[in-house]
Amino acid sequence: MARVAIVSGGTRGIGRAICEALKADGMTVVANYAGNAEKARAFTEETGIPAYQWDVGDHEATLAGCARVAEEVGPVDVLVNNAGITRDGTLLKMSYDDWADVLKINLGGCFNMAKACFPHMRDQKWGRIINIGSINGQAGQYGQVNYAAAKSGIHGFTKALAQEGARFGVTVNAIAPGYIDTDMVAAVPENVLEKIVARIPVGRLGHADEIARGVSFLASEEAGFITGSTLSINGGQHMY
Ligand code: NDP
Repeated sequence: MARVAIVSGGTRGIGRAICEALKADGMTVVANYAGNAEKARAFTEETGIPAYQWDVGDHEATLAGCARVAEEVGPVDVLVNNAGITRDGTLLKMSYDDWADVLKINLGGCFNMAKACFPHMRDQKWGRIINIGSINGQAGQYGQVNYAAAKSGIHGFTKALAQEGARFGVTVNAIAPGYIDTDMVAAVPENVLEKIVARIPVGRLGHADEIARGVSFLASEEAGFITGSTLSINGGQHMY
């Protein structure tokens, strides 16, 4: 039987590339999205992958959404926590809501999705959880105390859950992308983006499918000895 994979925020950008890569690997893939129904419809038409709407920052909605997926498609074997938002601003200008929303969706979403999916993985003694962190969670970024804190939290969450999952055959890893050419980066002002690209040793933005290849590897049978790890895919922008 094909493994069932779910990708939060799977209908656009990096998430979409991950969905397509896991489908090409032979998995049965489901995407989740927040509310852009037009993009989700186009995604399903073009890829044949079903898309389910709920806010991963909402605990109850996430439990209900994952239960629906389990019933209609099958229980989740591979969870990719990819959904994320930005609400940038310096601390002095950032509202409490901008802080709380980013924490709730980017980090709380990982907890909510894992709560829903982990029990089945534990019971069957096999599972893969891959969390999409960020270079800005590793290195920090001006104007992103909310996003950097949430993404840094994802790296801690990954290492803690990896310790809990290990004896059940559940691996938990993170990928820390650098700057990738998606809608999220398109929102960065051009002059700022030029300065960012100048700091990337390979001299260009990354492509969504370059992140997806990493996810595909970490989700594979062969990656069973890799857990609690962070794979940086950033064109050499941040090395350690
Ligand atoms: P996009 O903004 O292009 O796409 C975001 C996706 O997440 C959409 O499918 C969106 O759904 C979904 N989403 C947003 N909020 C929620 C929510 N509350 N519940 C469920 N789904 C939600 O993002 P990217 O592809 O650029 O980024 C994907 C991940 O990679 C994010 O976690 C991001 O932080 C991370 N990342 C991105 C980098 C980049 O350079 N692009 C660099 C480093 C990390 P909808 O379409 O309905 O809005």
